[in-house]
Amino acid sequence: MTNQTDNVEKELERLRSLISDYNYQYYVLDDPSVPDAEYDRLYRELTKLESQYPELITDDSPTQRVGAKPDSGFEEVVHELPMLSLDNAMDEEEMVSFNRRVSERLNTTDDIEYVCEPKLDGLAISLLYENGILTRAATRGDGMQGENITLNARTIRSIPLKLRTNKPPERLEVRGEVFMLKSSFEALNEEARKRGAKLFANPRNAAAGSLRQLDPQITAKRNLSFYAYSMGLVSDDFELADSHYERLQQIKTLGLPLSAEVKIAQGIGACLEYYQDIMQRRDSLEYEIDGVVNKVNSIQLQERLGFVARAPRWAIAHKFPAQEEMTQLLGVDFQVGRTGAITPVARLEPVSVGGVTVSNATLHNMDEIERLGVKINDYVIIRRAGDVIPQVVSVIHDRRPDAVSDIRAPRQCPVCASPVERAEGEAVMRCTGGLICSSQRNESIKHFASRKAMDIDGLGDKLVEVLTQKGFVKSVSDLFRVNKEQLVSLERMGDKSAENLLKALEASKATTLPKFLYALGIREVGEVTAKNIANHFLTIDAITKASEEELESVSDVGPIVAQHVHAFFDNDDNLQQIQSLIELGVHWPAIERKSDDELPLKGKTYVITGSFDGVSRTEIKEKLEALGAKVSGSVSKKTTALIAGEKAGSKLSKAEALGIDVLGEEFLEELD
Ligand code: NAD
Repeated sequence: MTNQTDNVEKELERLRSLISDYNYQYYVLDDPSVPDAEYDRLYRELTKLESQYPELITDDSPTQRVGAKPDSGFEEVVHELPMLSLDNAMDEEEMVSFNRRVSERLNTTDDIEYVCEPKLDGLAISLLYENGILTRAATRGDGMQGENITLNARTIRSIPLKLRTNKPPERLEVRGEVFMLKSSFEALNEEARKRGAKLFANPRNAAAGSLRQLDPQITAKRNLSFYAYSMGLVSDDFELADSHYERLQQIKTLGLPLSAEVKIAQGIGACLEYYQDIMQRRDSLEYEIDGVVNKVNSIQLQERLGFVARAPRWAIAHKFPAQEEMTQLLGVDFQVGRTGAITPVARLEPVSVGGVTVSNATLHNMDEIERLGVKINDYVIIRRAGDVIPQVVSVIHDRRPDAVSDIRAPRQCPVCASPVERAEGEAVMRCTGGLICSSQRNESIKHFASRKAMDIDGLGDKLVEVLTQKGFVKSVSDLFRVNKEQLVSLERMGDKSAENLLKALEASKATTLPKFLYALGIREVGEVTAKNIANHFLTIDAITKASEEELESVSDVGPIVAQHVHAFFDNDDNLQQIQSLIELGVHWPAIERKSDDELPLKGKTYVITGSFDGVSRTEIKEKLEALGAKVSGSVSKKTTALIAGEKAGSKLSKAEALGIDVLGEEFLEELD
């Protein structure tokens, strides 16, 4: 044996053993130790090397098989028809090559008809219906053998226990994906965080971990969902359609759920358009997807194309850019927010995640640092999904360098050196400096000026920092004392911009009591709470004088919020600020008392879908509810109107089909 093949064999062995370990952690323990992007890199390295040295491919190579051997805790199920994986395309070029290979094998230059489906990020299962009754459910396992998870699958509400037909086939195997809605995943992790328990890294691991529970009662509590995407073994008494799309419709007619996003695409161009479209809407979908699956529609053509070791030749997964990557934690900065809350922020070796360079990620609080067991210099997995700030999700323990150091909580505020306190039972540390702390002051001024508060046009975060640095503004009321001379002395501030800012400041003085109250930045008082308090007490005078007990009688205000509000108005500096603001001309119209019956949207029901500029769906929901409306999750004939933002999907089509009014972003402004 030559030296070179010797080296190649060693490298192949290293990659296989590493990938097998990662497979075990991912598929059996549902606890991956590296991000998918790293796994995919190693996997591709292995495939490339194997294609250069095909004689060195072994039967047990991870490229020749799917998943991992099932866990011994479950009874084994042998798949009569193997459950395979899918080949991946990482970009358009690879998709185009896939389409070319398909066309060449089929010896055609015509457009191929594909079915495009979202690639649901969960785990594959097989459901066996015998004479219409669900008799067995199994995980994919290693493709040949899976785990019997029948009792667990029976707890998933979208999986019918009986097919909706009077003439069920003797046997019908349906395959599909079990997954967890983003909202259920967040709720599950939130609850685990409160208990100090281990969190799931992402919805896929949460779905797999929840389904593969030895106690089905735990699965039942986890709120899993299911979409079907193909058939497995089917008895001869069932007349099968001859295209994949029609077979999906057959499955649907039998009562199994399909994703509403499944579409037919003529040719590769249409597949790429579908990909772009769904990627745009990715964040507004209720479930996580990690790409698009493209399948040749004609079953006859599928049969002609056949399979390779671990995947069909007639399908491919066109993956989205990864949302998780690994990098090194270089240090931790502690940032002080408006209410003094101190947040640890990870300083990272910059890394590109889905095309965006990330060099900071939140670590939430000291409890989270302890839970993660993270130390400075550790390699960590970071996640950047949608508009959410990047976060550290886990530590890669087997890559821990020799020199790591503990992350220590500061005893003094890193900005103003005031003592830091951490109330018992609270995860958050706070700077006790109040307005002495320049960071708290800056952040509260930024909040005061922000769109949903006083809405001072043109006064962004940067400008607030410059104004405070120069000493022109020390408190919120100082904003209204700034003069033109001071403004034009600032860098890059011309005559015109200075005048515009002064005009904007003047205009912002005409506000509403709820906005003013919100702008004050009282702890735990968001927009809705501010509105409820204002509508209850009607005047700022009454609010400042309210006792904790009186405050608690406001809807949405509990003892903690009442305590914060009371403490705020018990502080002379704060009262002085309010007084000055009013003297400087801040004013609002009187509020007329409204009884519940007079609430403008009483008796109306809205559904909200899509994404909105600068406001979350939860905030819109709270606003509508405060005005007496009901907010429902699905469109029906009873819906008054659908409020649709950007990238609205199936709800919009349903509303249009039912002839329900569709309202846009303007409607939200009318609510203010
Ligand atoms: P895959 O997830 O890339 O693709 C196949 C799977 O897609 C199917 O089994 C099915 O579960 C799913 N799927 C979703 N929607 C589908 C649809 N509409 N039609 C058909 N199938 C659909 O393949 P895999 O073999 O399950 O997993 C491989 C991937 O898992 C890797 O690329 C990697 O990203 C990840 N992985 C990560 C680690 C790690 O350590 N981080 C380890 C192993 C695997």
